[in-house]
Amino acid sequence: MDDGEPLAFDVLLLATGASAIRPPFLGGDLEGVVTFDTLDDAKRIIKYSRKAKAAVVVGGGITAMELAEGIRHHGTRTHLLQRGDRIWPRLFNEWESTIVENQIRHHGIDIHYNEEIAEILGARGRVAGVRLKSGRVIKCQAVAVAIGVRPNLQLVQKLPIQQDKGVVVNQFMQATIPTLFAAGDVAQVYDRWTSQHNLDVLWPSAINEGRAAGYSMVDVAHGCEPRYRYQKASPFNCALLFGLHLTVVGRVNGSPGEDVEQLSYLSRGSSHVWTAPFSPSYRSAWDKDGTSSLRIVMSDGRIVGAVLLGNQELADPLRRFIEQEVDLSNYQTSLMAGGTKLPQTILRAWRDWHQHW
Ligand SMILES: Cc1cc2nc3c(=O)[nH]c(=O)nc-3n(C[C@H](O)[C@H](O)[C@H](O)COP(=O)(O)OP(=O)(O)OC[C@H]3O[C@@H](n4cnc5c(N)ncnc54)[C@H](O)[C@@H]3O)c2cc1C
Repeated sequence: MDDGEPLAFDVLLLATGASAIRPPFLGGDLEGVVTFDTLDDAKRIIKYSRKAKAAVVVGGGITAMELAEGIRHHGTRTHLLQRGDRIWPRLFNEWESTIVENQIRHHGIDIHYNEEIAEILGARGRVAGVRLKSGRVIKCQAVAVAIGVRPNLQLVQKLPIQQDKGVVVNQFMQATIPTLFAAGDVAQVYDRWTSQHNLDVLWPSAINEGRAAGYSMVDVAHGCEPRYRYQKASPFNCALLFGLHLTVVGRVNGSPGEDVEQLSYLSRGSSHVWTAPFSPSYRSAWDKDGTSSLRIVMSDGRIVGAVLLGNQELADPLRRFIEQEVDLSNYQTSLMAGGTKLPQTILRAWRDWHQHW
């Protein structure tokens, strides 16, 4: 313990979470630079937003978007820097990127594509601007950085256990020392959707991993082999960004037709959008309608991923189809035709499936 007293244990769970990656640029420690982990961070962000005439937000994930929206809410001129040339290109097709971009611009936020910070400029210890890698300078008094998270591994750094980005655990949430367990943001868990060990830095995953670890810890503490295997659910993200409802579930690919498509998951922070290799059996179909858009990705007669922007009516059915790997080969031709009939076909399949079960 921190007072020097030892505390014996039979089994130990490490659930120390993850922390936002600190700004890696020169000037990252100036007053006015913030990351977003805690309530104190949130208070600081509000304080800086109210004082600043202009702020720069850097990062490509949901957290960066939420920060930009929150800062802009205070009337602060807000610049959002994106490394790519559109919003979430590995996840969205061009239409979807444009819908989100329009929402962002409609909120008065300036998006800068293909731009990264080279240095945060200071005056008297406070943020005065940013110099971009392109050489441009943007004057601002606050900089919010959301470029991903890093597991808190300090406690176990010196232990002889397998560590990669986090503590690598088996399906019983057990580290390579069998009495040590890890769950939540700190654990790197087996992911049946990619057949790899990945970080999974989301709240529902942390809860399910913790539960699985608890069962196994009881078994091991009683001298038994662990029995309860953790099964990662399909990737699922929903958000309300700039007034737009958005759901991304399962494996989705940004741009159909590209030679090398990637199937991506979205998570916290741009560094945690991870990708799985493209398989030629993945095909997507979609329907767009004004400010709404619905896209499904199919493989071997099953829906494996979906993106819903705007109208969310089909979010739950699609999630169930994906999670339970429902065979929809009977509907495949109609589904793959896409277009305005796509929502009706999904609903028809959903009703038929319900009647059957
Ligand atoms: C701003 C923000 C927004 C988010 N939004 C979403 C969202 O919309 N949806 C979603 O699914 N997830 C979201 N998340 C992620 C979600 O909060 C985490 O995935 C989840 O909290 C992880 O749970 P955990 O128990 O692993 O870690 P945490 O909740 O981080 O808990 C870890 C705990 O361990 C403590 N700790 C660390 N080191 C030590 C130590 N040495 N000794 C004692 N205690 C220690 C910490 O103080 C902390 O209380 C968000 C996270 C942030 C920061």
